[in-house]
Amino acid sequence: MFKLRGSFLLSILLLTACTEETVDPKEQIQEEKDNNMVVTEDGKLTFEIINKINVSQDKVDAIKDELLTAYDDIQQTIHTSYVPSEKIKVYLNEGNQNSWGLASKIELTGVKEDQYPLVHELTHSLLGYGNNFDASSGYFTQEGFASYMEDQYGKNDLYLEKYMKHFMDSDKLIPISKLIDPNQDDAYFRPDLTNIEELDTLRWMSYTHAASFIKYLIDTYGLEKFEQLYNEKDLANKMEEVYGKNSRELEKDWLAFIHIQKGFTHEEKLKSGYFYGKNTIIIQLDPTYFAKE
Ligand SMILES: [Zn+2]
Repeated sequence: MFKLRGSFLLSILLLTACTEETVDPKEQIQEEKDNNMVVTEDGKLTFEIINKINVSQDKVDAIKDELLTAYDDIQQTIHTSYVPSEKIKVYLNEGNQNSWGLASKIELTGVKEDQYPLVHELTHSLLGYGNNFDASSGYFTQEGFASYMEDQYGKNDLYLEKYMKHFMDSDKLIPISKLIDPNQDDAYFRPDLTNIEELDTLRWMSYTHAASFIKYLIDTYGLEKFEQLYNEKDLANKMEEVYGKNSRELEKDWLAFIHIQKGFTHEEKLKSGYFYGKNTIIIQLDPTYFAKE
């Protein structure tokens, strides 16, 4: 009995040793890399997942599928003159802070919480942003469209109309003229505030305004017209040229639409998890952000 057991153990040891010997570490690294790469059906783009937080291979595979689906969804929308990179590295990061979508890398946070804005960031990486991902064409159409896409196709429901209705009822609307003004847009989309909660809240409010306004433009006038506006400089004039109405008239129409929307119910506010937290911060923000010009 003992002897048998001994030889059984020995054969397991041998087997293990044998397996270890036959796996070349280089091959193993290559295999891991292959498991983390995926190519789009048209062969134009390779994604490589850099799994910095050691999520499971199932999760990595799910993210690969989400990237391919989002790639197709974004291709179905607007087209720009920007030519995307042939390879994009997608970093999975710890925490719930800022995610980024640049030319050849996407940084995703909120992965473990399942709140990563993959569609939002991929929209930036595929459609381009300013001149080589700078702010030379402002932020309004790029952030607005990326959030619109996240709301439509991503895992995050942004409750655009409900939040806009709430801002309206609380007298906390940001004028569109300020969000598209090259001299003021930084203060809204990239606020330089020492209070991080205020910074996050003001930026989120700006993104929500931009996304809701752009959703209204797309639903009312179609994607083709919006395509002419995307990533353009001098948006005030460009809007009038494309829509035959100036930005103030378009804003008025949009707010009339928001006015008749249903707001959050009391139950939805409780369920949303962060409604009351955000609202506390909104009240603290400097009222000049919301002043009409
Ligand atoms: Zn963005």
